[in-house]
Amino acid sequence: MNILIKNGKLVTEDKIEDKEILIVDDKIKDLKASFSKSELPSELKIIDVEGKYVMPGLIDAHTHYNLVSRGTVAADKFYEGSVLAAFGGVTTVIDFSDHLPSKEISEGTLYRNSEATGEMAIDWAQHQVITRVDGDVYKELENLKKLGVTAVKIFTTYKSAGYFIEKEPVKEIFKACKKLCLLVTIHAEDDDIIEENSKQIEDKPYPPELLPVVRSSEAEYKAIKDYGEIAGSLDMPIYIVHLSSSRGLDAVKESKANGVNVIVETTPHYLTITNDFLNKEGAQKYLMTPPLREAEDNEALWGGVVSGDISIIATDHCTFTLEQKFQSNDCRTIFPGVPGTEEMLQIVNTDGVEKGLFDITRLVSLLSSEPAKAFGLYPEKGSLEPGTDADILIFDPKAESVLSNDTCHTAAGYTPYDGMKVKGRAETVILRGEIILDDGECLGKRGNGKFLPAGLPGAYKK
Ligand SMILES: [Zn+2]
Repeated sequence: MNILIKNGKLVTEDKIEDKEILIVDDKIKDLKASFSKSELPSELKIIDVEGKYVMPGLIDAHTHYNLVSRGTVAADKFYEGSVLAAFGGVTTVIDFSDHLPSKEISEGTLYRNSEATGEMAIDWAQHQVITRVDGDVYKELENLKKLGVTAVKIFTTYKSAGYFIEKEPVKEIFKACKKLCLLVTIHAEDDDIIEENSKQIEDKPYPPELLPVVRSSEAEYKAIKDYGEIAGSLDMPIYIVHLSSSRGLDAVKESKANGVNVIVETTPHYLTITNDFLNKEGAQKYLMTPPLREAEDNEALWGGVVSGDISIIATDHCTFTLEQKFQSNDCRTIFPGVPGTEEMLQIVNTDGVEKGLFDITRLVSLLSSEPAKAFGLYPEKGSLEPGTDADILIFDPKAESVLSNDTCHTAAGYTPYDGMKVKGRAETVILRGEIILDDGECLGKRGNGKFLPAGLPGAYKK
């Protein structure tokens, strides 16, 4: 479709401009103060946005749609996940592929893409999880890179579940990733500290309020320091997923002071809600790992966003229905994870921009340009440059609403932000020139999303 968006304020990571934007087919054709009639195609839809913001479509760089784990499947499958994402102004997600048993690493990506293809209504890229080293890891990662996956994820915890990798094989993975310019992303919680803290539980009940005690912020601190040291010794970047605590942020700052290039992501839940919820009825709805922390941690993380130590906000969207969540009240068996992709934009606008911590250009940086750069999708995604994919969010910053279990679109049927007053709304969302959301109605089609082969991660660009 050809579209002219008029009277908008174009927002990118570094500026706001009064310009018109012309979309021809699936690409941004040009941006101009005003187009003359002769420059416009004869078939044209004109959208007058009356002073609203026009920005690149958002990217949620951390989702687990259709997650199969512990004998169940997440509530939001690929289609449901991509639809609720569109409601939140998101046109691209980066999801995770498992390391399949007795298969080489890249088989995980192939399998995951075979499941997502034909289902997703928005575009997606993949991160590939690595949980073991079987043979020639360099060769396996080379095969992965050929598929267009340039970020891997490792765990510093979950030894008993088989996710943890010992230090020596980890170094092998790091070295191979450096050679191939792959970004290593890390779930950072020190397993030894968690095991030590677990001794007080052993065969006793393990209710939600004990999760922050066992999975302490010291565990996050230690893991970031240790893996930061490995990265530093090899002179390579690392990416910390879902930073949860003030202590974790200390470790980031210390590692950076030691010269390590640490890229850091946090999530809306670690920024805005606390472990008070874990002491109340229905605590399971708020259970994820790492666990929710204290109000001081929320504040410290916002400080990290403002200082630039945290450059990306993503959601770790991983949902279960209330029936799934409430089948246990023991942390060993509660399915962990919360919704977030739909709420991300409104929360960051309300608690970041509206509270004066930063302006709307930084919101675009945190939720679109930086994740695109970090994961090798820029400028095709995360920018408004002529010639790139026409993924556009028309954002009304003043619309007021209340996040609610009754109106959220997740198949989980609840939002951890129920009752939160928010400002701003994704009014219209365009994916590669097609309108996929308009005034509260999702027009995105199942299967219209496509897999995005990722290029060189930004941290490897000279
Ligand atoms: Zn995750």
